[in-house]
Amino acid sequence: MKIGKLLLFVLSLALLVILVVYFVNQKDEQQTPDVSVTQPSDTKDNETNPQNVSEIDENLTNDPENSSGEEEPIDTMEPTPSASPTVEPDTDAKSVSVIVNPDYKLPDNYEPEDLVYPDVRFIFDEKIEKRMLRKEAAEALEKMFEAAEVDGIYLAGVSAYRSHSTQTALFNRYVERDGYEKAKTYSAEPGTSEHETGLAIDVTSSDGKCAAQDCFGGTVEAVWLENNAADYGFIIRYPNGKEEITGYKYEPWHIRYVGVELAKHIDEEALTLEEYYNVSPVKR
Ligand SMILES: [Zn+2]
Repeated sequence: MKIGKLLLFVLSLALLVILVVYFVNQKDEQQTPDVSVTQPSDTKDNETNPQNVSEIDENLTNDPENSSGEEEPIDTMEPTPSASPTVEPDTDAKSVSVIVNPDYKLPDNYEPEDLVYPDVRFIFDEKIEKRMLRKEAAEALEKMFEAAEVDGIYLAGVSAYRSHSTQTALFNRYVERDGYEKAKTYSAEPGTSEHETGLAIDVTSSDGKCAAQDCFGGTVEAVWLENNAADYGFIIRYPNGKEEITGYKYEPWHIRYVGVELAKHIDEEALTLEEYYNVSPVKR
């Protein structure tokens, strides 16, 4: 009898344990799906609810294990692409991106080594100095004039290369006539004219009516140059509205070869060469 009672007690105890284990298991099973359901919904809320997002951000930054160094580089890197990097002014006379202005003079008696006669129309026939350009600029000019003709625009060269001695003679003539102070307002002092680099040329329409004159502005040829010159590596060197920076009045006819990449950048950002190199405005 005693053994029977004990057996019954043990059996009922075992049954109780089994029941308890069963219910605990069932409770766990009910909770597990609950957790898996609430977790995604929580994260979804966090993505869409700004309040939750800021909570998460706070949690992240407060969490000592989450190194704040991971976030900082992102913050410091963000402004970098928009900030324009400082480009050192190119003062190498032989470089196509050289800056030449009254503050940045060419070396005395600089003469380009690769001057050629570009095969394009000029408003004169003679094969003389002012018809020449450096090879790279000459080839770019030929391509540009060809492309213009496809668009029904007929350009002509007016004046390209000017040697140091020619610029000196020209400037001295103006000084004799008008005095130094006045002469330097409209003519470049020797060593400061872009024409001495062999990379600049004055262009006009094929009729030559407004050669190097204000009336060239607004002509179909001037508009075509504004829109297309950069594709061939040329910039309008003295743009309208930038007189205070370049020191020159608007010269829609004076184009300067700087290479396609730089020309496109300067054109897209509406810069002058002075602004690109972040140098002081030219005082004349
Ligand atoms: Zn010019």
